[in-house]
Amino acid sequence: MNPDQSRSVDTPATNPNGTAPHCEHLDVLKPVADQPGGCLACQATGDRWATLSVCLTCGWVACGDDSPNRHAKAHYEETDHPLTRSQEPGSPRRWCYVHERLV
Ligand SMILES: [Zn+2]
Ligand SMILES: [Zn+2]
Ligand SMILES: [Zn+2]
Repeated sequence: MNPDQSRSVDTPATNPNGTAPHCEHLDVLKPVADQPGGCLACQATGDRWATLSVCLTCGWVACGDDSPNRHAKAHYEETDHPLTRSQEPGSPRRWCYVHERLV
């Protein structure tokens, strides 16, 4: 028996066998409107970003962990808003900073 099942990291939260811990942060989300544009913190300093993440708690748009400044993570550390969604069209992956995994 090998308990280390190799599963895709972007498996959605629907887990039929119930092995992955449920992200309870998803349960308290309210719909928020995306703010158009880019990372305001980077724009203020003239920096660039690689990817953008949207905070699912308040709609704040910030640069993702692929970017030099990682303002999305800074937003989490400041506000305790744990969930972000990739702003890339077609791949709306949600990331929980508390669980440190896709949810
Ligand atoms: Zn979570
Ligand atoms: Zn930024
Ligand atoms: Zn937020």
